[in-house]
Amino acid sequence: MAGRNFLFVPGPTNVPDRINRSMIISMEDHRSPIFPRLYESILPGLKKLFRTTTGTPFIFPSSGSGCWEAAITNTLSPGDKVLASRFGQFSHLWIEMCKNHGLEVIEIDCEWGTGVPLEKYSEILSKDTSHGIKAVLACQNETATGVTSDISGVRKVLDDANHPSLLFVDSVSALGSVDFRFDDWKVDMCVTGSQKGLMLPAGLGILCVSSKALELRKQAGLKRDYFDLDQMLNANSTGYFPYTPALPLFYGLKEALTVIEEEGLDNIIARHHYLAEGARAAVFNGWGLKLCAKEPKWYSDTVTAVMLPEGISGADIISQAFKRYNVSLGAGLSKVAGKLFRIGHLGDMNEVHLCAGISGAEMSMLDNGVKVKPGSGVAAASEYWRNNTPPPGLLVR
Ligand SMILES: *Cc1c(COP(=O)(O)O)cnc(C)c1O
Repeated sequence: MAGRNFLFVPGPTNVPDRINRSMIISMEDHRSPIFPRLYESILPGLKKLFRTTTGTPFIFPSSGSGCWEAAITNTLSPGDKVLASRFGQFSHLWIEMCKNHGLEVIEIDCEWGTGVPLEKYSEILSKDTSHGIKAVLACQNETATGVTSDISGVRKVLDDANHPSLLFVDSVSALGSVDFRFDDWKVDMCVTGSQKGLMLPAGLGILCVSSKALELRKQAGLKRDYFDLDQMLNANSTGYFPYTPALPLFYGLKEALTVIEEEGLDNIIARHHYLAEGARAAVFNGWGLKLCAKEPKWYSDTVTAVMLPEGISGADIISQAFKRYNVSLGAGLSKVAGKLFRIGHLGDMNEVHLCAGISGAEMSMLDNGVKVKPGSGVAAASEYWRNNTPPPGLLVR
């Protein structure tokens, strides 16, 4: 098969060559005096990424889901009440995990294509005068539907209700791509993974923990062992890990944080918005199709979920794009299975690269009988990009 595969699933994302190269290393003794230097060199960049000076980052050899488990088991006890909303596969899975751990979840079912319902959160939290709710969960970017929620708004709702609940955020497909502020938004747990905005292979779960949440580990009654923050903290305090760390990924993470530092987090966030606007122009102005996200306030800058006309199967679009054009698109999951396809544009991406995804999706749609005008997607996207000022990260210097 000639040419490269174009990867547009919203995780794993494209790994820049220099990050790939940084991970080609001989194994080292992780108990040697050299290892703590590597670990400690990663921490400042990681804190900057979370925009925190007060939070403590933890790195687990897991995918992002492992950190969901770490977040709840280190702070909560069986029967504790948590408030959560479901509007896509990922927000759904976190709720299921809470239930499996014996938590009582106050679930708000939202229409898929919308996000965290601030008014409902406000209503429930202001009525909870006995403060029975111990944690509020929010999925910042619902990857399944391409919906971003307002996390600063969730903080405001908690503050306005004078509610002491913890705030847990799933930022797996947002951190390092869209704005996230651990300290300003007084987040207690922020969950992410290596294979999205961090441009690494899967394999590291990363968690940032507030001092308030960290204190709770002493009284949290849920069972845990591998994800126990106390064990991790003890080992980390000397620069080591309680078990064998995923060494190549640590080198990769160090390089990824350097790449991020060089472009600048604000520039990266601006680049994601600029690229996403182009993708949305392709969908609306080019193809005349709709997004899964219902309103502009929900539009995600990391993943564009495109609704297909009635009678067209999303699975066929994705299969044809892959088999015929070597373009990997994201599928619709659960409630939206078959109804949409997703173009992930987070991490290492520029305009012309994204054109490959738009073009591959378009050819596949045409092959499957979707009545879009040939070339219209790229035409509309390039129209947007050519008429707007690119962020610095897209200019060759
Ligand atoms: C990818 C993702 C996760 C976690 O997935 P893992 O496969 O466990 O890394 C969780 N939440 C969101 C929003 C995601 O996009």
